[in-house]
Amino acid sequence: MNEHCDVAIIGAGPAGSIAAALLRKAGHHVVVLEQSHFPRFSIGESLLPQCMEFVEEAGMLDAVNNAGFQFKNGAAFSRNNAPGAFDFTQKFSDGPGTTFQVQRADFDHLLAKQAIAAGADIRFGRRIDGFGYDDTDLPVLNYRDESGDTHTLHSKFVLDASGFGRVLPRLLDLETPSDFPVRRSLFTHVEDNISDDNYDRDKILIVVHPEHKDVWFWLIPFSNGRCSLGVVARQEYFDLDNNDAEVLLKLVVSESPELKRILANAKFDTAVTVLGGYACKVKSLWGKHFALLGNAGEFLDPVFSSGVTIAMKSASLAVPQVNRELAGEDVDWQQSYAAPLQLGINTFRAYVNAWYDGSFQDVIFSYKQQPEVRGMICSILAGYAWDQSNPFVSNPKRLQTVVSLCRE
Ligand SMILES: Cc1cc2nc3c(=O)[nH]c(=O)nc-3n(C[C@H](O)[C@H](O)[C@H](O)COP(=O)(O)OP(=O)(O)OC[C@H]3O[C@@H](n4cnc5c(N)ncnc54)[C@H](O)[C@@H]3O)c2cc1C
Repeated sequence: MNEHCDVAIIGAGPAGSIAAALLRKAGHHVVVLEQSHFPRFSIGESLLPQCMEFVEEAGMLDAVNNAGFQFKNGAAFSRNNAPGAFDFTQKFSDGPGTTFQVQRADFDHLLAKQAIAAGADIRFGRRIDGFGYDDTDLPVLNYRDESGDTHTLHSKFVLDASGFGRVLPRLLDLETPSDFPVRRSLFTHVEDNISDDNYDRDKILIVVHPEHKDVWFWLIPFSNGRCSLGVVARQEYFDLDNNDAEVLLKLVVSESPELKRILANAKFDTAVTVLGGYACKVKSLWGKHFALLGNAGEFLDPVFSSGVTIAMKSASLAVPQVNRELAGEDVDWQQSYAAPLQLGINTFRAYVNAWYDGSFQDVIFSYKQQPEVRGMICSILAGYAWDQSNPFVSNPKRLQTVVSLCRE
C-alpha cells in the first residue's frame, strides 16, 4: 500500500517524539514508524538540565514536570571515597538547572503520547527495512507490520531517529568507526533499600573503580525506591565466557567498598543486560532529503549522561531546517545542522576522552578548583555543551590548563 506524508520519522524515542511535536507546530503531516510497542525498556535514564529546554520547546514541559519522575539537581562523583559533587544550579550558563532521573519506558511513552496529542501519527509495531527515492527524487521508506505485510511510505523528508537501530546509516552505508575503544556495560534495576541518610537521591552517582580509573559505575535512583545500576569498562575487562552476567555485576560491585556499602540491602530482582560496542559515528549526518538524529548519528559514551540531550538537541536543530526545505528554500545542511550539532558533541567528546585518560577525574576530585571555572565545567556536565559564551565550550583544550593546575 502506498501512503504519503510530509515528514516520515523512523523511531519514537526522545529524538523522534520531540522532532514530531516540533514539526506538528509548523503544521506538517508527520508519520512516525516505531518498531516496538510502548512502554518499552531503554537505557539512558539520567537526563541533563539542558534537555528541559527542548522538552519545553516541544510543548511537553508540564507533562514531564507532573509525571512524578525523580528530581535531579546534579552529579556526584566518587573515587576512593574522595567526593566530587556538582550542583547543576551553580552552572555558568543560563537555563534550567534541574531535571529528572527517569525510567525510560515511562518517559519515552509520555513523550510519544504528547507527540500524538500534538497531532503526530505514531504507528507502533512497524519496522523500517528499506529506503530509496521515487521517480521525483523524493524519499520512500519500506516497512513491515507485525503480520509481515510490507508497506511503502512516501514523504518529502525523512528524519532517522532510530537510535541504536541505526536504520539509514546501515542501509546507506554511512557508518564509520567511532574514535573510542569498544566498551561494554552491564546493568540492571534493583530495589535499592538504601538507608544511608547521606546518600543523595537527587543526583546520579558515578563511582570510579578503586584500582582501574577507566572502569566506573553508575547509580541512578528513581522515585519508586529503585535504582538503575551499571558498570562500564573496556569489553575485555568482563569475563563473560566464564561468568553469568548477574554474578559478574555483583562481583565488580563488591570490588568498590563504597558501592558495596550503599547497596548492602539491595535486592537484585531484574535480569542483567550486557551491552557493548555502542559508540558509533557516521560519515555524514545528512543526505538528500534526510537527516540523522540522536544516536542514529553519533553516540559517544554514557559517562556524562549526554545521549538524550544530544538526541533532543538534534531534533531542535533539524526541524527548522526541515521547515525551510519544505517551504522550498535551499538548505545547507552541513552549515545549518551538522556543524552546530557537532559543536556540542565535540565538547562532550573532549570531556569523555579526558575522563578515561584520568585527567578530568583529577579536576573533578581536586580541592583546587576555582569557583568560576567550576561553574563553567558544571555547565558542560549539565548539558550546556553548545553555549559558546562558555570558554570551556568555545575552546575545549582549556580543560588541559585546568588539569595542569589541579595536578600541580
Ligand atoms: C550503557 C548506556 C547508558 C546510557 N545512559 C544514559 C544516561 O544516563 N543519560 C542519557 O541521556 N543517555 C544515556 N545513554 C544514551 C541513550 O540511551 C541514548 O543516547 C538515547 O536513548 C538516544 O535517543 P534516540 O531518540 O536517538 O534513540 P532511542 O531512544 O534508541 O530510540 C530509537 C527508537 O527507534 C526505534 N527503532 C529502531 N530501529 C527501528 C526500525 N528499523 N524501524 C522502526 N523503529 C526503529 C527503536 O525501537 C527506538 O524506540 C546511555 C547509553 C548506554 C549505551
